[in-house]
Amino acid sequence: MTRKYNFCAGPAALPESVLQRARDEMLDWQGKGLSVMEMSHRSPEFTDIARTAEADLRELLQVPEGYKVLFMQGGASSQFAMVPLNLLGQGGTANYIHTGIWAKKAIAEGRRYGDVHIAASAEDNGLTAVPLSSEIHLSDHAAYLHFTSNETIGGLRYAPTPEVPTSVPLVCDMSSDILSAPLDVSRYGVIYAGAQKNIGPAGITLAIIRDDLLDRFKPETPTMMQYKVFAENDSMYNTPPTFAWYLSGLVFKWLKEDIGGLEAMGALNQRKALKLYAAIDDSDFYTNPIQPAYRSIMNVPFRLADDRLDQCFLAEAEEAGLLNLKGHRSVGGMRASIYNAVPEAAVDALVSFMNDFERRHG
Ligand SMILES: *Cc1c(COP(=O)(O)O)cnc(C)c1O
Repeated sequence: MTRKYNFCAGPAALPESVLQRARDEMLDWQGKGLSVMEMSHRSPEFTDIARTAEADLRELLQVPEGYKVLFMQGGASSQFAMVPLNLLGQGGTANYIHTGIWAKKAIAEGRRYGDVHIAASAEDNGLTAVPLSSEIHLSDHAAYLHFTSNETIGGLRYAPTPEVPTSVPLVCDMSSDILSAPLDVSRYGVIYAGAQKNIGPAGITLAIIRDDLLDRFKPETPTMMQYKVFAENDSMYNTPPTFAWYLSGLVFKWLKEDIGGLEAMGALNQRKALKLYAAIDDSDFYTNPIQPAYRSIMNVPFRLADDRLDQCFLAEAEEAGLLNLKGHRSVGGMRASIYNAVPEAAVDALVSFMNDFERRHG
């Protein structure tokens, strides 16, 4: 068996040791004689798996008192509807910052449920930089301000976190950069993320919500889309995605024990990203359009000087054991997603392949 280096944007690479442990426990979880997939979600065994996963996540992110951690389904795309349904109950205007393709989808969904105001847009900078806090103009009666911390397709990172009055809950789609570095959860009203980039396998969605926001849902909100229902039932109002929850828990353990927490993870991610951007910037052959201060640490899009070489680059990369470097279909070019589980050795291998390819074709 050879595991190759996987730069997929999502579902993305998982830590090898997590997959090994899941394999070892697949048929017989800790001597109980059955697989996690075959357990009742209400059994003491699974309750323990679920509680441990939540406790480890809370420890990693240092989630303060007064926040619920919810494990849901439907992906981040369902959160695009859940946020307005749950936070616009008493009226008010939904405020959004537009930064790219994912923000745009959240905005479009928001418009289905209420008044939307675009408080700032990175379009003013050609989507190569995020707005400054001074450029954010909230509407009257802002029910929340939604932003996307990392535009997975554009490779645009939101930094620093937008400054807003504390009366306006900050809502963030962190699908592609949650757990990539330490985070001050207390600044947020709602944080959400689909799991398949930096948490675990597809099929589970994480949300962290401040307690005082649980009662603002519109009365017609479907039961399964109310944060409150998840909060009051330990995310087990119905059958949760148990195996994905278990695997996410193994990833949290890996982050804590193998990596040493988010401080260490952040430093490692910085190093990986700097190496790759340096390789791009040091060449006349590869380019990345994003202003350096706003470049994503997780998703690095780049173009070749001659796009007629794209197919050749991808074929040779695959030959070299470097998978899934094709850019998103909407933008073309290349994209290397270098999430937590992508080891530094993968970035080293990619950089050396890129240098070699440039020598032969540049
Ligand atoms: C992948 C992604 C989504 C969509 O996630 P799904 O779980 O597929 O719905 C939304 N936002 C961002 C930033 C993403 O990277």
